[in-house]
Amino acid sequence: MISVENIVKSFEDQSRRTTVLRDVSFHVNRSEIFTLLGPSGSGKTTSMRCVAGLETPDSGRIELDGDAVFCSRSLVNTPPNKRGLGMVFQSYAIWPHMSVGENVAYPLSRRRFSRDEIKAKVRRALAQVDLLALADRPAPNLSGGQQQRVALARAIVNDPAILILDEPLSNLDAKLRLQMRAELVELQRKLGLTMLYVTHDQEEALSMSSTLAVMRDGEVVETGDPITLFEAPKTRFTAEFLGLSNFLPGKVLVGEGGSDSIAIDTEFGRFAGTRRKGETAAPELFFRPHHAGLDASNDDGLNIGRARLVAKTFLGELMEITLQGKENSVKLRVHPSSEIQMGEMVAFRVEPRHSLIFSS
Ligand code: ADP
Ligand code: MG
Repeated sequence: MISVENIVKSFEDQSRRTTVLRDVSFHVNRSEIFTLLGPSGSGKTTSMRCVAGLETPDSGRIELDGDAVFCSRSLVNTPPNKRGLGMVFQSYAIWPHMSVGENVAYPLSRRRFSRDEIKAKVRRALAQVDLLALADRPAPNLSGGQQQRVALARAIVNDPAILILDEPLSNLDAKLRLQMRAELVELQRKLGLTMLYVTHDQEEALSMSSTLAVMRDGEVVETGDPITLFEAPKTRFTAEFLGLSNFLPGKVLVGEGGSDSIAIDTEFGRFAGTRRKGETAAPELFFRPHHAGLDASNDDGLNIGRARLVAKTFLGELMEITLQGKENSVKLRVHPSSEIQMGEMVAFRVEPRHSLIFSS
C-alpha cells in the first residue's frame, strides 16, 4: 500500500549539506499499523514528510496504492493534496479562530462539495472520534485530548485510505495517552485504514503496531513484528532501544561448523545462545530481565549465572533485583514474594533461546 524505496534526503544548512535519510526503504501493507520508531533526530519525521509530499527526496521512489507519487528517475512528484492521505501532527495545528466543526471541514473547503455534503462529512468524522457534541464549540476551549480528536477528525474527513501520524500522542498526559492508543487502534480497524505511525516511545510502538521499522541516523536498522523484534532482535541497537536489557561482555567459544549456536564465558558463568553477527566491538551476551529466572538447583551447568544481590526494588507486580559481579551488573525481574536477601549470592538461569550473543 505504501512503498518507500531507497529514499535519500539531504538538507542545506548554512551552506553545509547534511544527509538525514541515507537509504530508507520500507513497505506498508494495506490496513496495517506500521510504525517508524527511533530516537529523536533519526529521520522519522523527514521520512513521513517525504511520503506526504511535504519534502522532496534527493532520490528514490515512493508508491501509494501501486501508483508512483515520487520517483527521481521518471521525475514524478505528486503534490501533497493529490496524494489522498490524512495527516496528524504532533502539534495539532488547529485554527483558534474557528469552531470545532469548521476546523474539521477545512480540508473540504477547496473541493467542490455542497454545504449539505460538507455538513454530513463533518458530522460523520466527528462521530467517529466521539466529538459530535462539540461541533459548535470554539476551538480554543478544548482540552489536549479533545484537540487531538479534532485533528484526527480533520484527518479522516476526506475518507483517506492512508492515515499518517507523527507523534500524535506525545502532548498528552500518561493516562490519556494510554486511552488514545487503544482508540487509535480501534479507529484504524473500524475504518480499515492503512496507518503509518511515528513515535519515539517503544511501548507505544510495541503495543499498537503490526510492523515496526527501527530507525537510527537516517537508516532503517531492522523491520519486523513487535514480538520478534523485542524477543529476538538482529542488532544490538534494536535490543537496547526496545526495552530493558542486559549486556555482559565475555569470550566467545566457537563450536564446530560455524554454527549459529555458540557459547560465551562471562564473569557470571558460561551461556550457550544464538549468535548475532554485527557491529559490536567486543562479544556480549544479551538477555532481557524478564527472561532470567532464579535458580535453586545448585547446578554449575551451562546458562546459569551467579552474583551477589546488591539492590532490590519492589515494583508492585514484580521485584527488580541487581546482581553485581567484579566489573558488570545485571538486572533481573523476579516474583515479589522472592525471599532472597541483600548481599546473598544468587544464581539465575537464562534459557539458550533467550540468550543472544552479539559478536563481530
Ligand atoms: P525525528 O523525527 O526522528 O526526530 P527528523 O526527521 O525530524 O528526526 O530529523 C532528522 C535530522 O534532520 C535531524 O538531524 C534534523 O536536525 C535534520 N533536519 C530535519 N529537518 C531539517 C531541515 N528542514 N533543515 C535542516 N535539517 C533538518
Ligand atoms: Mg520527529
